[in-house]
Amino acid sequence: MEEDGQTVVVCGGGNGAHALIPVLGAGGKRVRVYAPYGDEAERLQRCCLEGGGIRASGRNNRELRCCPEEISRHPSRVISEADLIIMVAPAFSHEAMLEDMAPHLKEDAWVGAMPARGGLEYAASRILARHGKRGVLIFGLQTLPWACRLVTFGREVKILGQKRRVYVGCTPAGRQEGVARALSVNLGMEVCPADNMLAITLGNAGQIIHPGIFYSLVRKRGRFFEEGGVPLFYQSVDEETVELLESMSAEVRCLAGVLEERFFPRLRLNSIVSVREWLLDAYADQIADSTSLASAFRTNRAYEGLRMPVREVPQTNGEAGVFEVDFHHRYLAEDIPFGLLVVKAIASLAGVPTPVINEVIEVTSAWRGVEYLAGGRLEGRDLAGTRIPQNYGINHLETLVEVTLKGQKAW
Ligand code: NAD
Repeated sequence: MEEDGQTVVVCGGGNGAHALIPVLGAGGKRVRVYAPYGDEAERLQRCCLEGGGIRASGRNNRELRCCPEEISRHPSRVISEADLIIMVAPAFSHEAMLEDMAPHLKEDAWVGAMPARGGLEYAASRILARHGKRGVLIFGLQTLPWACRLVTFGREVKILGQKRRVYVGCTPAGRQEGVARALSVNLGMEVCPADNMLAITLGNAGQIIHPGIFYSLVRKRGRFFEEGGVPLFYQSVDEETVELLESMSAEVRCLAGVLEERFFPRLRLNSIVSVREWLLDAYADQIADSTSLASAFRTNRAYEGLRMPVREVPQTNGEAGVFEVDFHHRYLAEDIPFGLLVVKAIASLAGVPTPVINEVIEVTSAWRGVEYLAGGRLEGRDLAGTRIPQNYGINHLETLVEVTLKGQKAW
C-alpha cells in the first residue's frame, strides 16, 4: 500500500476531495475519482481536462496539482483495481457509496473514510458481509487532515490549515499500525494508530466542537443577523462555551473509562483525549495564544474568518436581506446523527448518563425539526437513518465490542 504507482480512489467531489486528490498525486499515486453525486463526475472531468487538473494551495507553502486518471459516477469504472478507497464526503453519504462500491471491491482492498465520524464500522461491516467481502479492511480517520475550502470547482482548493497529526482506526483491530504507516506515506503527514474504531467513534472531536459551539452561539446571539453581522464561529468561543465543550468531552471520556474497565484487557481506548488536548495537539503550530481553551479557539489560524453557517432570507418589501442560521448545516445534520447521537446510543448500552450531551442533542434537534431523543431516551421519531449501533442490530455491549474488534456478527 505504500509504494508509488498504486491505485487510490477518492470518493466525493467536495472541499476535502479536492484537497485529497492533489495531495495523493504529489505522493506519486495513480488517482481515480468516484463521484456519484449529481453531475459532479461529468463536471469534474470537464474542468480537469480544461484546467489541467486540480490545484491545491496553502499546504506547506507549496502548490500541488493532480489530474486524476479516471473520474466516474460508475463504481465499476474506478473501483475494481483499487487497493485503497477513501471516502471524503459527509457521513450521511457513506452507506450509499459503500453499497454501490461493495460488489466491485478487491478481496483485500482497504476502504475507509476521512473523517469516519461515528459508527462507520457498523454500517461498513454489515454491507461488506452482505456482499461476501469479509477480507476487506475498514478504516476511519478521526478527522479531516485539513481545514479546506473550494476556490473553483474542479480547479482549485485552498488548504487553510493542516493538522499536525491525525489518528486512524481500523476493523479488524490489530492492523492499525500498518494502516497508519501507509496513510502517513500517502498523505505526506503523520498519521497515528488509534486503538480501534470505537476510539475513533468516541474520540471524534468535531461531534463536540461543532454542535457545542452552534448551541452556544444560537442561545447567545439568536438566529437572525443583518448583513455583515454574522458572528464568527470559532472566534466567538468564550469561557461559557468552553465550559460546555469540556462537560461534553468529560462525559465521553467517562463512557470510555467505563467501557475500558468492563472489557479490559481486550478493549483499549487510550487514544481518546479531551477536546482541549485534541485542539492543542492537532493545531499546535497554528495557535497563537494557548493560555486557555477559549484563546486557543480564537487564535487558531486554521479557523480564522470562518463564520456561523447562515442562509439569506429574501425580503419581500425590497429591504436588504437578513441572514438566518442554517440549521441544516453539517455541523448539526452530520455531527449529531453520525456523531454525538452515536456516543449517546453507546452510553445507553453501557448505562452511562450523558445529561449535557442529551441537552445539546435535544435542543439542536428541535431547531432542525427532528427528534432523536425523548426525555433523554433513544425514543425519538427520527432514529432511522442515523448510525446508532442499535440500527444495525447491535443491542448489547458485547456485540458492539465484537463488531469493533473483528467486524463480525451474524448480520
Ligand atoms: P462538502 O460539503 O464539500 O462535501 C460535499 C460533497 O459530498 C459533495 O460535493 C458530494 O461529492 C458529496 N455528497 C454530498 N451528498 C452526497 C450524497 N447524498 N451522495 C453522494 N455524495 C454526496 O464536505 P467536505 O468539506 O469535503 O467535508 C467532507 C468531510 O470532512 C465531512 O465529514 C466534513 O464534516 C469533514 N470536515 C471538513 C472540513 C473542511 O474544512 N472542509 C474540516 C473538518 C472536517
